Amino acid sequence: MDVCFTVDYEPDCPPYMTDTFRGVEEATTPLLAMLREEGVPATFFSTGVVAERYPAAIDAIVHDGHELGCHGHTHRKFPDLPPGEAREEIETSAAVLRRHAPVTSFRAPNLVFPDAYLRFLADAGFTLDSSQARYKATWWRRDRHATPPLRRIPASATSSVLRLPRPLRETYLAALGGRNTPVVLFVHPWEFVDLRHTDLRLDCRFATGETAFRRVRAVLRFLTRRGARFVTMRDLAAAQPA
Ligand SMILES: [Zn+2]
Repeated sequence: MDVCFTVDYEPDCPPYMTDTFRGVEEATTPLLAMLREEGVPATFFSTGVVAERYPAAIDAIVHDGHELGCHGHTHRKFPDLPPGEAREEIETSAAVLRRHAPVTSFRAPNLVFPDAYLRFLADAGFTLDSSQARYKATWWRRDRHATPPLRRIPASATSSVLRLPRPLRETYLAALGGRNTPVVLFVHPWEFVDLRHTDLRLDCRFATGETAFRRVRAVLRFLTRRGARFVTMRDLAAAQPA
């Protein structure tokens, strides 16, 4: 079973907080340490703005051998942007991120991306889109023929699932994946900051901070015991038929 562990590397809990970057500032070093200890290569989908503000953090990610991907520039939702702005959002973030590493994988903020804009990704040199989500109704209604030359690999589960107590979490995880269906998980840096006493929505704040570190590490070990092979999104795309 192929498993991609991905990080949407962004401001704190958009659109609720957006002006702070505590997750990037406080969680990057321990998150990289955990991935190193568990031997897990990850894909970090960063916004361009985060890369502009924290270039050393991006270099640390690349230095550890993780894939750098693109999560838009400003974390605005693409359905809200007219075509010209959508194209600019993609081109600007790609240019900023590619100062650090080759970047060919993309995930839209909030996992929503209009099909009509897929050509902007292809034009900007992206070969993989992970903006869809298997757990959303839109995945089941999608047009299955619409998208060459991009590979499209959806996320399997929303991030808060990884922070659930063990029985719920492992029951959910055990049901993911299957023959020719990779498991794509994602987390956010701000989940590793203690947000329990903020007034954020419950799914954004429960079990954040140290508990999130403990539970996400347990997820990686649970999947390893079940025979997971951890790969980056780029490697997964390369291995999949077009
Ligand atoms: Zn995001």
